[in-house]
Amino acid sequence: MKIVSISAAMVILVSSVVANDVKVPEKNERQPEQTTIDGYNSTPLQPAPDDKWHIHDPERTQPPVAEPKYDGNVVPAPEGAILVFDGKSLDKVSNKKWPLIDGVMVAGKHGAQKSMQSFGDMHLHLEWFVPVGLKGWGQKQGNSGVFLMGKYEVQVLNCWANRTYPDGMTGALYGQTPPLVNACKKPGEWQSYDIHFTAPVFDKDRKMAKPAVVTVYLNNVLVQEEQAYLGASTWKKAPKYVYHPGKQPFSLQSHGNPVQYRNIWVLEK
Ligand code: MG
Repeated sequence: MKIVSISAAMVILVSSVVANDVKVPEKNERQPEQTTIDGYNSTPLQPAPDDKWHIHDPERTQPPVAEPKYDGNVVPAPEGAILVFDGKSLDKVSNKKWPLIDGVMVAGKHGAQKSMQSFGDMHLHLEWFVPVGLKGWGQKQGNSGVFLMGKYEVQVLNCWANRTYPDGMTGALYGQTPPLVNACKKPGEWQSYDIHFTAPVFDKDRKMAKPAVVTVYLNNVLVQEEQAYLGASTWKKAPKYVYHPGKQPFSLQSHGNPVQYRNIWVLEK
């Protein structure tokens, strides 16, 4: 499938946040122009063994860079997969305000996008794209995210030649666990997530008995391995579990950035 060209409508959509004449750096490294890394050090400490770091700590160790292994092509849904977004319609997602342009849906300022269907344990595949030239550093580089069960986020962001607090970078369990490596592709290129999710279990008193656990591949590179969530994703606060049913829709975050999505499918487990 071709790399989707930005149509006239998209140009209007992104013109307020995209700088002109931006060259994408050849290497995935911090740029001299990025003089500070965004984040917080007045937030609560992470739980042990990471308790020398605050939540969203800009000083937390940056994961090493790794070579992405995704060629940018559409990954066909395997037999038995449930297509949630195939580029033809928004029938299987809740928010019809998201622009559907050239087979791609675009996050913006229209609120979260939810799957119509609820899921528990699953393999979720999706492809995403951050346009070149977004203004600003850190979290301003295309913040979106995949919220498993609408609650447990795997962050979406451009982290090629852009650094941010490690628990908020691409492949992070947002506010909790940085990815093992930074396997980002360049902005302006399609990237893939394969997320293998096990839903949390709650006991008869509605207390968490088993946490949500996730293994994540970013661009076919392992970035989270059987990692437990500490609770529902949140901002600047310690996460906690709150009871919910065993199947929930997943959602895509609307954070005001023109992040594109395509080819979203689920294999239930
Ligand atoms: Mg996010």
